[in-house]
Amino acid sequence: MNISKILISFTVIVVIALSSALFTILNMKELSTNTQKIYSHPFHVTRAISNIKTDIITIHRNMKDIVLTKNNIEMIEIIQKVQNIEREIFTNFDKIYENYLGDKKDIDTVYQLFKNWKEIRQQVIKLMSDKEYEKAISITKEEGAIHIEKIIEKINILEDFALNKADEFYNLSLKSDKIDQVITVFILTLLISILIVYYITANLLKIGRVNNKQIHLIDQNILMVTFALDGKITYISNALCDVLNRHKDKLIGTKNPFFFTDEQQFSEFENKIYLGKEYKGEISILINNEQIWFQIEVYPELNNDYTLSSFNVFFSNIHDKKQIEKISITDKLTSLYNRNYFEIIFEKEIRRSKREENNLTMMMFDIDFFKQYNDTYGHQEGDLALKSVSRVFALHTNRSYDYAFRMGGEEFLILSYDKNLEGSKEFAQKILDEIKSLKISHKTSSTSNYLSVSAGVALFEYKHLLNAQEMYKAVDDLLYKAKKDGRNCIKYNSFE
Ligand code: GH3
Ligand code: MG
Ligand code: MG
Repeated sequence: MNISKILISFTVIVVIALSSALFTILNMKELSTNTQKIYSHPFHVTRAISNIKTDIITIHRNMKDIVLTKNNIEMIEIIQKVQNIEREIFTNFDKIYENYLGDKKDIDTVYQLFKNWKEIRQQVIKLMSDKEYEKAISITKEEGAIHIEKIIEKINILEDFALNKADEFYNLSLKSDKIDQVITVFILTLLISILIVYYITANLLKIGRVNNKQIHLIDQNILMVTFALDGKITYISNALCDVLNRHKDKLIGTKNPFFFTDEQQFSEFENKIYLGKEYKGEISILINNEQIWFQIEVYPELNNDYTLSSFNVFFSNIHDKKQIEKISITDKLTSLYNRNYFEIIFEKEIRRSKREENNLTMMMFDIDFFKQYNDTYGHQEGDLALKSVSRVFALHTNRSYDYAFRMGGEEFLILSYDKNLEGSKEFAQKILDEIKSLKISHKTSSTSNYLSVSAGVALFEYKHLLNAQEMYKAVDDLLYKAKKDGRNCIKYNSFE
């Protein structure tokens, strides 16, 4: 289960939840609209109608009172009452007109009837003031009463309609299937959400278990270390701790990668990785008093904004390969590099010299009268002498870019970097002096009592480097000159 699946699942939950919310809101809105309709329309109308009905019956009773009284003051009081009630009736008619949902003509009919009745009661009041009491009583009881009945009859139609409308809205509001639908949708949403959440959680737990297993496998089998930008180790695998024979707790938090012993290599490594580049190289680490070789691959890890966050270093043990390689490039007798290695690296060093703008020095040495030495002291002594001389070469070439080769027999070559010929001269002279100071007796030598060497030394400026053969020949010629010039001396030249 990947991130996109989780996102899709959450989107589904959100969409379902939103749809259900929308569904509920719409349904609730419909319910509230229906309830509002009941209150704002039919209820208003029925209330107004029942008021009119009561008022009309009251007026009719008042009219009866008017025709029965002979007292003028009482009559005027009742007439005023009637007029007040009539005003109320008209106000209620306004309310009906405003809220009635049926045909407005039905209201017009009742309204007209009421207006007609008003004329009748006007006629009665006039008869009363003319003292025509009997006529007034008869109109009130007959024509008036019939008219009132007609009004009540017509107004009942309006009332029935309004009450039916109220019932209709009320039933709509109560319609239980709406509520049921909302509850069903709510429960369905809840169930689907629970299922999706369960699915996501189960998958996340599974991913967690797989991740833990992978982390465990890496920890036990991959030689790996992670360090932060400040150089502190933040993680180191158990497998690497086992190989290094070091304790995890003692390495975590320590600064500067412990695996670099060569400063130049370390700075080359730093220059690369802090630029976010990968680094590959070979290093040797002292484990149980033995230098063990590893290949390291360093991968910078980036943050989301592409800035560096840390570095992962993977180790692979190349010790056996290195041992074979070492045998193939090492001279057995002297442990110096052999000619084979010179052939491999010479061209590379010429390129490095150009690239790094460093002048390259080549020195060729040859033991003087070595055939005689063998003849005088024996081949075995000859071998020992070769070893002693070689140790001098080895001791003076311990910088990472200095090389000493046994080119064959009693011939040696040193490759190194010097600023100028003065430096090369000093270097070569020191070697010659040290060989002399070994004081290896050589009584048959016609140049010295002790074993001596002749040397040709050439400094090649990086700007004007010759090709490999030309360079080799140039140094060989210088050595030849030294031999010709009596041996036990150095011939120099710089090629600028
Ligand atoms: P020159 O001063 O002109 O260099 O004379 P040389 O005798 O040193 O030179 P030459 O080339 O005539 O002889 C080199 C000798 O080195 C011949 C050989 O017996 C000896 N030699 C070469 N390899 C070995 C070795 O592995 N062990 C011993 N003991 N001697 C060796
Ligand atoms: Mg020789
Ligand atoms: Mg020789």
